[in-house]
Amino acid sequence: SSFPFHCRLVVHGFGRGSKQLSIPTANFPDAGSGDVHKMVVSIGWNPYYKNTKSMETHIMHTFKEDFYGEILNVAIVGYLRPEKNFDSFFFFLKRKSLISAIQGDTEEAKKLLDLPEHLKIKEDNFFQVSK
Ligand code: ADP
Ligand code: MG
Repeated sequence: SSFPFHCRLVVHGFGRGSKQLSIPTANFPDAGSGDVHKMVVSIGWNPYYKNTKSMETHIMHTFKEDFYGEILNVAIVGYLRPEKNFDSFFFFLKRKSLISAIQGDTEEAKKLLDLPEHLKIKEDNFFQVSK
């Protein structure tokens, strides 16, 4: 397997406002604090958001401030599921399904990331450099 897959990206805005879903997703903190947090990432075409290609990261941590412009170091350690669209005539039902799917993914990721083989990745040199 090619995991963990490492990348460093600059966080930029989509103006899409995932915060409206109560799920902020940084598009590629940092570095400032040097803390390593759990996260889920969506890589793909975002069928819910009219098929724009992106990589979006939801970090399982409450930050005091936004961090647009910061460099985010990401280690992807596994794969959860393919992208799916949520079909409903009613936009609010689509949105509800999207939110519960992401919450389900987040819960699953939290458990997986607590496995010893994943916990030890926090100590990787990859995350040390920006401290
Ligand atoms: P955008 O449309 O710009 O992606 P979002 O509503 O998805 O806007 O919010 C993403 C921004 O929120 C990130 O770029 C980051 O600055 C900030 N943010 C705050 N807390 C988090 C978090 N826990 N995970 C991801 N981004 C967060
Ligand atoms: Mg976002």
